[in-house]
Amino acid sequence: MVQIAKEFEFEAAHQLESHDGQCANIHGHSYRLRVTLKGSPREQEDAKEGFVIDFKELKQRVKAAFLDEWDHAFLAKGTEAILPQMKSQGLKIVELGFRATAENMCQHIAWLLYKQGLPVDSVRLYETRTSYAQVAMEDLLRQGGPSCYNRPKPVCLDEKLPVSEIFGPTIQGEGMAIGQKSLFLRMYGCDDHCSWCDSTYAWDGQEAPKHWSVEQIVQKIQDLGQSCGCRYITLTGGNPCIHEGAAMNSLITVLKKYGYHIGVETQGTRNPGWLREVDAVTISPKPPSSGNPTSAAAVLPLVRRLQQHRIPFSFKVVLFTEEDFDYMKQLYRQFPGPEYPWYVQPGNSNAKDTFELAQAVSRYEEICQRILQDPELSWVKPLPQLHTWLWGNERGV
Ligand code: SF4
Repeated sequence: MVQIAKEFEFEAAHQLESHDGQCANIHGHSYRLRVTLKGSPREQEDAKEGFVIDFKELKQRVKAAFLDEWDHAFLAKGTEAILPQMKSQGLKIVELGFRATAENMCQHIAWLLYKQGLPVDSVRLYETRTSYAQVAMEDLLRQGGPSCYNRPKPVCLDEKLPVSEIFGPTIQGEGMAIGQKSLFLRMYGCDDHCSWCDSTYAWDGQEAPKHWSVEQIVQKIQDLGQSCGCRYITLTGGNPCIHEGAAMNSLITVLKKYGYHIGVETQGTRNPGWLREVDAVTISPKPPSSGNPTSAAAVLPLVRRLQQHRIPFSFKVVLFTEEDFDYMKQLYRQFPGPEYPWYVQPGNSNAKDTFELAQAVSRYEEICQRILQDPELSWVKPLPQLHTWLWGNERGV
């Protein structure tokens, strides 16, 4: 094993509110950062032979991961009283969600780079010429991530959460994880009431929610997933993001501890803290035909949080009408591809027999044709609702 290191410099400001000294003032630092990687030099005879990683690539990846964003920015916790005024002046602000001390920042940096697949050994961040904080990746992994993330702490496992249903294994039939073997955990409750909702039983009060403890939920998931090797959970609803608090945090922590990948489906109107622990998020804003169209402004806080924490996400819009198509295009202009991955699908189909399946295929083909002919929609991927083609609109599949 060989260690390699590269140093970087950037300028940034911060304010440590409630600090009992000078750091309570807004002030700046010329930061110096040392990223150390550890690995075996490549043996294969190609352009990268003999490298742990090409220094040029390391530089590009560090810049893209955070450095360009942080340079000459105000690194905020997000609670600073001065923030609204700074924002109104259009100043460069990065809201970290934690106090921007060297101790916290070096952990965050190490975690970001590690999550991007770099073989991080340690990160050292000089705040001044003589003062630095350093974290070893080994320690960071042992403690389960940066301490500054306020990671959800396991609480009493018998706190209850409202569950509509847990089922699987089945195939995820939509969006970015299409085809993935998955269990489904459908939480009860929704902040919208879409006219064509295909899971009204998860919010309309006709069916009472099961109030299950975190332990019961995890046990059920383990029972369903273990024998078939299903390691992916789709957390859906209703809107699962309306649930916040200790029990929900615990659920996510315990599922991650058991090694599950968690994909979340939400219309994007809520932004709970536990989202930064999940593996992927599908934001599914509702078009006009739903009766309660989701605005771009409503999903923006969620988009920003996912970007900040480097959580993969995509947009998925269900299309029923011409107006829905126009809505999708307007939203696409605000969150354009390829920076934002996009999927669209025809409105819910219930392909119970051959005739209805043929209708569903034909609706899908129509949307494909619209996308193919529209010069603006270069990065929008039309997908069917695959599970409905296989199993109709049955529950539990
Ligand atoms: S947001 Fe989803 S779950 Fe909620 S009412 Fe609309 S379609 Fe149904």
